[in-house]
Amino acid sequence: MPTHLPIAPTASVNSTRFVSQSECNTALACGLQWFGTWNLGYRPQYPENMPQRVGSMGHAILNDRVLARYYSRDTGPIAAASIERTKRGWGEWTPELEDEFALAEGASNTLAEAIDLDSLKPIIHNGAPLAEVRLQVTWANLAAAGFGKIIDDLHRLTTAYAGIEGQPDIGLLMPHGTILGLARTCVDFKMRQRPDLGGAGEDSAIPDPQGAFYKILLAASGIAIDEFRQVNVYAGPWLCLDDFMRDDSPYVRADGLPSRDLNKLGAMVKAGVWADAWRLLVERKRVAHTQRPMKVSQKTGQPLKGQEWTPPDDWDARQFIRHLETYPTVAVRSFALDMSVCRDVVRDMLGAVDAHLAAVAKGVTPSRHLRNFPTSPCVKRFGCPVQDACRASLGTGNAERVMREQADAGALVRRADAPVGLIPARVVA
Ligand code: SF4
Repeated sequence: MPTHLPIAPTASVNSTRFVSQSECNTALACGLQWFGTWNLGYRPQYPENMPQRVGSMGHAILNDRVLARYYSRDTGPIAAASIERTKRGWGEWTPELEDEFALAEGASNTLAEAIDLDSLKPIIHNGAPLAEVRLQVTWANLAAAGFGKIIDDLHRLTTAYAGIEGQPDIGLLMPHGTILGLARTCVDFKMRQRPDLGGAGEDSAIPDPQGAFYKILLAASGIAIDEFRQVNVYAGPWLCLDDFMRDDSPYVRADGLPSRDLNKLGAMVKAGVWADAWRLLVERKRVAHTQRPMKVSQKTGQPLKGQEWTPPDDWDARQFIRHLETYPTVAVRSFALDMSVCRDVVRDMLGAVDAHLAAVAKGVTPSRHLRNFPTSPCVKRFGCPVQDACRASLGTGNAERVMREQADAGALVRRADAPVGLIPARVVA
């Protein structure tokens, strides 16, 4: 192998490592991101952000709620969030963290009420509810369950990893509209920070990779499921009246009235709060109007016509208030999981990791998948964990070296259990 190549493959494998759906999805999305984050194990140095903390606490609170009912004990949302705080190294409780806990608890309550969580029975696995249980299935288990063809010829993957793993949020017996009785459902909770809950609503005709992966993982673990449901809940901040009334509020339009664009607001607002903001801002405009000097006729000395105060038409405002009154804060998206489709989807997911491992073994950096639309991971802040290193290496042709330099400078850290799979020797040294 030429010495100038960035990667020097070794025969090292870590056969205790299991591949997750999250790793597969990264591999499908961008080879370089997979290489940086999963193969080399780099993570940015910055701490978890607010949406991640709210999401983690929300999941812990919901998990505790299901387990508490099953074991006939009281729920402990603060205790559950506190365990998460300690586990993830967020430090002591601060006013900001307490506010985030309040968002997580509020969203969890909203979600539980929307799907009637407290009346649903969990799927029982090994004598306990299937709630945030880490499942691991070896390649041999997968083949024994009839999924051997999924990994046919994926030699690099099956050498570098021991099997597949995942931690579904929860398994529930849920009412279903099209089959009699209860559907065995794998439920995934998504805590959203924006009013747009991901366009959820209609049942999707496009298979969901996460759902497909869990269906195969659960089936190979002896748990057959009928469907996968994604339950999206708004867990972001709620605007208050002061947000609209302060000087230079970003939520007030150039004409002095409150914005009606939920995307621009970027947070939810209760109908009553927005109605009050409308009323007070209209009054503010009226007072400003009365205080400005009137133009008078030079002939008569009387005020010129057309300067009278005219209140703004409130038809749109009333429509928007009604819209806010019925705006959903929970959206459920169902995915029917046809087993033959799931096999194909999971085969593609695992194949992506195998292909990148093959590139690494040849001493080639897995390829970038640059995306330049405004919300893409390459563009959005925190959109890709190795975004800065990727950009800095453009033109040098040596992404691995740039990542290593950034790690030396403290901008990236390596996971304690990295690297996985075939390891670039220079990084290990
Ligand atoms: S910034 Fe974009 S191209 Fe670069 S590694 Fe991340 S996702 Fe891939």
